[in-house]
Amino acid sequence: MMGKTLKQVFWGCVRASGIPMLVREVAHRRRAVVLVYHRPSPEHFRRHAVYLTRHYNVVSLGLVVDAIRSGDWSRVPPKALAITFDDGWRENYALLGLFREFGIRPMIYLCSGVVGTQRHFWWTTGGRALRKLKRLPHEVFLERLREETGYAPDRDYPERQTLSREEIREMAPHVDFGAHTRTHPILTQCDDAVCRDEIEGDKRDLEEILGGPVEHFSYPNGSLGDREARLVRESGYHSGRTFVYRGSNGARTDPFLLKGIDLQGDAPVALLAAQITGVHRFLTFFRAPRGYE
Ligand SMILES: [Zn+2]
Repeated sequence: MMGKTLKQVFWGCVRASGIPMLVREVAHRRRAVVLVYHRPSPEHFRRHAVYLTRHYNVVSLGLVVDAIRSGDWSRVPPKALAITFDDGWRENYALLGLFREFGIRPMIYLCSGVVGTQRHFWWTTGGRALRKLKRLPHEVFLERLREETGYAPDRDYPERQTLSREEIREMAPHVDFGAHTRTHPILTQCDDAVCRDEIEGDKRDLEEILGGPVEHFSYPNGSLGDREARLVRESGYHSGRTFVYRGSNGARTDPFLLKGIDLQGDAPVALLAAQITGVHRFLTFFRAPRGYE
């Protein structure tokens, strides 16, 4: 493994090579990049915001989705980039000042069964059961996790993990909110009824909390199949975003298969440039580490 400094030097050289710039100026000219963050610190996000607003035209996700749905790309500026956050972590509240300062209007995808409560996300509770996650039906997996760590989707913990309702309301003039299911299951491991309830129910819950329409969805863990995309469409959403399919989006992208690029929130700017343009994946041979979230 490369040390941290060596890594920075390496990605600095990649950036200096001009390859990320070439991708940006040529391949991203009439495309929109969608970035996926979770809970970057204000310090790191500021550095990213400086870079992103200098090299891209940062737009709202809604603008990109409207262009795809209407078939009219004319309102999307060249090198368009939308910023999204998954899960609604409480740390996101500290970024509000930066959103305003840099004129960034992000999309934050919320889980109605967790935000505004003292509940926790299941993958933060530890336990060996997490390793079996992908092989078990979601209910069985949850039961194993409950036996092992005492976790339950409706259990209150002392520490609040996500945004409070007051914070969400305060952010609403500057942030768009989307849906990310009620409790963040891996949808592809849920039966039809649960899958539908998680997708449809989150929209209903959030519309009540926000007092307005919730039109955009992001697939938990990026996981989806045909059923999930169909249910998102049937539930009345305008888009579904994943990060399993990486890359940029154009006029012919299926709005329910929006591609996103999940980032390390603390990535140095040179690595950020490489990640956005796909140069990073090419050079690391698709071995970038993946988490849950
Ligand atoms: Zn998530």
